[in-house]
Amino acid sequence: MSLARKLPLFLLLVLLAAVAGGLLVVWPHLEGQEPQILLQTQPTQLGRQTPLDITVRDEGTGLASLRVTAVQNGKEYNLFDKNYATGSQWDRQGLGEASEKLEIKAVEQGMVQGPATLIIQARDRSFRNWFHGNLTERQFQVVVDTLPPKVTVFSRTIHLNRGGVGLVVYKVNKPTPIHGVQVGKRFFQGVNPWPQDPLACMAYFAFADDEDKGASIRVLVQDAAGNQAGSGLPVRLKWKEFKSDTLNISDNFLEALAPRFMAEAPPAKQSPLDVFLWVNEDLRRQNHAKILELCTKPSPQQLWQGPFIRPQGKPMAGFADRRTYVYKGRDVSHSSHLGLDLADLAMCPIKATAAGKVIFAGPLGIYGNCVILDHGQGICSLYGHMSELAVHPGEMVPLEGVLGRSGATGLALGDHLHISILVGGVFVNPTEWWDPHWIQDNVALRFQEAGLPWPPVGK
Ligand SMILES: [Zn+2]
Repeated sequence: MSLARKLPLFLLLVLLAAVAGGLLVVWPHLEGQEPQILLQTQPTQLGRQTPLDITVRDEGTGLASLRVTAVQNGKEYNLFDKNYATGSQWDRQGLGEASEKLEIKAVEQGMVQGPATLIIQARDRSFRNWFHGNLTERQFQVVVDTLPPKVTVFSRTIHLNRGGVGLVVYKVNKPTPIHGVQVGKRFFQGVNPWPQDPLACMAYFAFADDEDKGASIRVLVQDAAGNQAGSGLPVRLKWKEFKSDTLNISDNFLEALAPRFMAEAPPAKQSPLDVFLWVNEDLRRQNHAKILELCTKPSPQQLWQGPFIRPQGKPMAGFADRRTYVYKGRDVSHSSHLGLDLADLAMCPIKATAAGKVIFAGPLGIYGNCVILDHGQGICSLYGHMSELAVHPGEMVPLEGVLGRSGATGLALGDHLHISILVGGVFVNPTEWWDPHWIQDNVALRFQEAGLPWPPVGK
């Protein structure tokens, strides 16, 4: 074959290669995979200021834009518009994922009370649709409601002890998914236990042993649109100083304790004193974080009846005792004792202080073998240092049902029971709950004042 005849074939091959090469470059940009829109919660209401957390994701060419609009009475409102940048001018690949925390201010935008459609649109960087990209659109029927809820508090004077518990009964004029009592920085979520009166609410709250004397105490409610309202509470706080206790720690004590925690303690903490300090401070903090997590998902119903029953035993240490640990004449550590220590016969049966549901049964750091019961509506009890456990999580336990046997596991040397009561995950003075007069004046009376049955009648 002559060169003249070969040339067109060669050119054709070059052209084909160029087209194929071009396709290889362009092909990924023609992907048809639409971006995903993920929402924490489905929007149903828009208030004065409604949070909306949106996560957008695109596995192909990456994200190009996110747009949020609303349509009400034929008018369109632009609520959010964002274009996402690419890595560089040459690299068209966009972000794979973006999370946006929006605050929608419907009224400020000019919207009025009533129904509207909320539209969320995400586009990717695909060349499809004439370079507009793949579009994902989600629509939600919402109601603009900026009227704050109204709250009526029924409770008259609430006598509250430092380290103690209060109960408040109140009513709202529309459903409020979030309602309860704010004490300083802590919020105690309330419940709606009356099926025949779903707008009636109650909340137990605690004045923690470490709370500031002047902490404000208020009922706070928030409707589905995010509108809030509050009300002060007629609280009379009885302040008291907690007992101070000095504990001299000996080498014998440290050497007896260290082996129990050696495996858990960080490798750097290997002297018996270092292990003790880690246990008394870091491990105590970790254990309390775990207990808080366990005790803030309570049953909405009251699972107990009548006053709690105090477990047997001689009191060895009281609630909120301020402990100073002295080693060789030096203050080495501090802690607050957030329960009661009761000593009876060794390995005696430990009984439930009130009926409840087992939410934890197992080893728990300083508390050793430990059982936690949920009594409903935010009240829990904890039993520590046990030698044997007789219950399992999920089990219902009657008043004085046996939970196991006493012991000296965890941060304990002699056989005794450590019992704590918690409200909303906050440790409170257990003795209030064993006092029938306190139950009458601080629990039963609150329901009488509100004219509501106690315990709540119904399913
Ligand atoms: Zn104790």
